[in-house]
This record gives sequence, structure tokens and C-alpha cells, in this order.
Amino acid sequence: QSQELSQAHIDYHVALQALQEHGTRMVCTGKMHTDRICRFDYLCYCSEAEEFVFFHSNSSVMLPNLGSRRFQPALLDLSSVEDHNTQYFNFLELPVAALKFMPKPVFVPDVTLILNRFNPDNLMHVFHDDLIPAFYTMKQYSDLDDEARLVFMEGWAEGPHFDLYRLLSSKQPLLKEQLRNFGKLMCFTKSYVGLSKMTTWYQYGFVQPQGPKANMLVSGNEIRQFARALMEKMNITRGEEMKKDGGNAEDDKEKKAEYIVVFSRSATRLIVNEAELIMALAQEFQMRVVTVSLEEQSFPGIVQVISRASMLVSMHGAQLITSLFLPRGAAVVELFPFAVNPEQYTPYKTLATLPGMDLHYVSWRNTKEENTITHPDRPWEQGGIAHLEKEERERILASKDVPRHLCCRNPEWLYRIYQDTLVDIPSFVEVLKEGMKTKPSVKKSKSTSTVHPGRVREAQCQTLVQTPNEAKLTVSWQIPWNLKYLKVREVKYEVWIQEQGENTYMPYILPQQNYTFSENIKPFTTYLVWVRCIFNKNLLGPFADVLMCRT
Ligand code: UDP
Repeated sequence: QSQELSQAHIDYHVALQALQEHGTRMVCTGKMHTDRICRFDYLCYCSEAEEFVFFHSNSSVMLPNLGSRRFQPALLDLSSVEDHNTQYFNFLELPVAALKFMPKPVFVPDVTLILNRFNPDNLMHVFHDDLIPAFYTMKQYSDLDDEARLVFMEGWAEGPHFDLYRLLSSKQPLLKEQLRNFGKLMCFTKSYVGLSKMTTWYQYGFVQPQGPKANMLVSGNEIRQFARALMEKMNITRGEEMKKDGGNAEDDKEKKAEYIVVFSRSATRLIVNEAELIMALAQEFQMRVVTVSLEEQSFPGIVQVISRASMLVSMHGAQLITSLFLPRGAAVVELFPFAVNPEQYTPYKTLATLPGMDLHYVSWRNTKEENTITHPDRPWEQGGIAHLEKEERERILASKDVPRHLCCRNPEWLYRIYQDTLVDIPSFVEVLKEGMKTKPSVKKSKSTSTVHPGRVREAQCQTLVQTPNEAKLTVSWQIPWNLKYLKVREVKYEVWIQEQGENTYMPYILPQQNYTFSENIKPFTTYLVWVRCIFNKNLLGPFADVLMCRT
């Protein structure tokens, strides 16, 4: 079917000759295996050996040339999950001369992106680990366009969300298993290997308990750009953004259009009184409440509904990743089962609170043990604890808080997170009312420009010694060049004055473009002076070159 790679598009003999003459060429970005993406000409794959092959010739290129450090621990991470030892990529090496004795290669003419999906069965992982990173890796390399071919090497079957992966390009993605169909040796004319980790915001707790990544590099803007692109591919239109005023709509028509979505799970981690919860929400907010579930609706259908919702309410779980399709100003309400601390499991909170995501986040936690429904006899991966020693079992049953733990098989965690919950409506409504009080208006956050100041210009100082004990230091500067094109609510300047040789400095915040300092200024002393511009209290610009001012 769509698996055939049109060999007609490339001249087989030209390709074979190029491979024989030039061998494989590799040029990578990234100093470490964890931030590396490599681009190859004529990277080959031997399906029999299940190995990638680099062919050496006189004109092959391998950059970085790591020698045997290539195995310490690997050339690069094939998934976006950092330094996971099941996700490493490497290749075997052969001289091009070996081609004579090998099966005839089949050439893949498409520009190919080779990667591992991390956990394609789980919707959160699908988006966070695969779709968003692949989307932005493709943006990074312009020849990874709509015609690019994706190859998934983790070895899993298509999985329940393969249609989402299909949206990344117009060509059918290939699975590792399917590579056999192309013969024993296939060579990718042009390929990229690895995924950008720039967009990931969460670490799953392999080496330290799970939490937001230490150095987040993504903002809500990029997440929303991705969401919009995906919605376009799914033929979903949001219309104009629903709630431009962040929900204080006086306009009655607009109010009527607003609704709340309850994302329901039908198999595990249930809300057992969902109907009651829905009634309470409808009553509290005077809004329509609709439910969606992965079991009942198509994914595009769900996104259509969520993309116009004012609020998304759901148990903690992968389905909450769909909050990235919520309109700005909407609220995410995440429910946690008994003994699970919301502060320790924050993939969706972190997403909702990314700068520029403009979502409001509220969590509720079941604190009443009598309202939890446990499943001790289920298989261990669904939180069963029957396989444990009696003592351990009793400890877990008595515990009211899952202690911090590593991923992924902690039985106490699994036991608690797979509980069903009878949501205590009064406490839920209370938490919600309290949480929504601080709801930020989108207007406010939108007018907070994210344009940073440039350097102040023509910074200079003048000094004056008045008496043997008194001196003055006048510093002046011009506005940053970009300010004249901007409407900024508040422009201030920060000046740091440090006596040469001292470790400390005096900081000043000033509204004007010059100032004469006389306190703490000594005669016949050299001061180092830094000046920078600040927009709206917290948008810091860079410091201008340091001034040396001698009194
Ligand atoms: N799932 C679902 N309904 C359920 C339970 C799970 O749709 O009742 C989906 C869930 O959204 C996720 C996958 O099945 O995509 C695996 O769920 P699991 O509970 O293992 O993971 P979690 O939701 O805790 O990340």
C-alpha cells in the first residue's frame, strides 16, 4: 500500500554510486548525546541485524568524531526523554567495500526523520514526548516539510493514537517492523535522527521524583502554535477566540455560548458520582456542562468541543493533555484521588501555567478516605497490591499520603492513583470558587507585552570632586532603540554602582534617563556603573557596557 517508496523518483544507479563513492556523511548539532540531532546522507539500516550502518569511505564525514566515546553512553537520545537507556541511538560501521558482499540496498528517497516514540499508548506521552517535539524538530530543519517521512524505531505497533502521528506529514509514518518489507538493507538518502527537547516541560521521575523540567525553554505561544497547526490538519475551526475578555462578559449571548467540559474516564480512576458533579458545576456557573471521553468520541470531536470550552474538569490523567486546545482564559480543574498530593504530580499544572498559555489552573484533592474506592486485587500495573508482603500491604493501606517516589512501578503510587473517587461536592465547589477568585483576565496578561527592552544607548558618566570628602557621579543614557516603536506602560531604568575592587554594589531604580549620585560617592575612587532598561516592572533588558567612572 502506501509503504512502497517510489524508487522511480531517484535514479538507482546514481544513488548506489553516490553511496559507494562517498559512503555515509553525518553532521550533528549538540555537544552532548542529550542535546544532539544528526543529519545523515546515506545512513543505512540492516533489518536482519536491526542495526543502522555507517559506511566509511575516503570522503565520508562523521561530526562529531567521538571515537569510542560514541558508546559512552550513546551518540544521541532517539526519544525526547532525556538520557533514558532504552532510547539510545547508535550505528555500526562498515567500509563501503563491504557493500559488494551485502544485499542490494533499497534507497529511501524521502527526507526522513528517525525517532523513538516514548509511550504511544498514553495520550500525554504522545503529545509531550512525540508530537510536539517532532513538530518543532521539523520546524528546525526546513527540508523536514510536509513531504517528510517519519520512521518510528521504538518497535511498538501503531497504537491507539496513530492518526495523530499521521498529521505530522502527508506521508504514512513507518514502524520499525515495517522496515523489513523494504529488503535487508535500506539506505535513507537524507535523514535526521533524534528529537528536539526544547518543548518538553516535564520529567517523569526516572532519576529524581517527577516534576517540571529544571530548565524549561518553551512558552505557551509555541504550544498554542502547535495546537493551532494540529487543529487545522484535523479540519477544526475554533471560530474567533471565544472569550476575549476573560469571562467577565456582559454580553449575554456570549455568556450563553459558554460551557464546561467534564473529561470522563470510563475504565479506571473514575469519578463515581459524575452526574452529581455535573449538576453542581451547571448550578454553580450557570453554564451548560458536556462530557467527553476517549472511549466515546473521536479525538478530533473532543478537540472541537474543548477548543471552545470555558472550563475543563477531569481526574488527573493523560486525557488532561487536551487542555492545550483550550481557548485562552479558560480554566483547567484537575481532581486527585485520596492520598495523592497534587503538588507532586504537575504535568498539567505546569502546562497550564506556562507563560503565555493563559490558562487558569485549579486542583482538588479527595481528603476523605471514606470517599475513595480502592482496587487492591487488580493486577499490579493497575494498582493491585495483592502480590506484596502482608507488612508492606498494611503499611500502604494505613498511609494517607504517597511519599515521593521514582517512576514507574511504585506500588503505593499505583494503588492510590488508580482509586475511584466519590467527589465531595461541597468541598469541590468551595475549592473551585476559591480558586476562580484569582482568575487572571486575559486582557491583563495580553497587554503585558513580552517584548524586552534593548540596551540603553550612549551611557556615560561625569564626575565632580567637591571637597576632600564629597564627590558627585552623574550617569546619563539614551532610551533603548526599540522603545520608540513600542507602547510600554512603564519604562524604568536600573543602575548598579560598584566601587572597583568591592564585591557589593548599590542598585537604583530610576524613572528618568540621568541621575546624579552623591551619597556614598567618594573622591578619587573608581566606580563601575551598569545601566539597563526595565519594561512593566519585570521585563529586564540587557546591561549596557560597563562604565568606568573615576571621581
Ligand atoms: N484512558 C482512558 N480511559 C480510562 C483510562 C485510561 O481513556 O478510563 C487512557 C488515558 O487517557 C491514557 C491511556 O488510556 O491515554 C493510559 O491510561 P493510564 O491510566 O495508564 O495513564 P494516565 O492517564 O495515568 O497517564
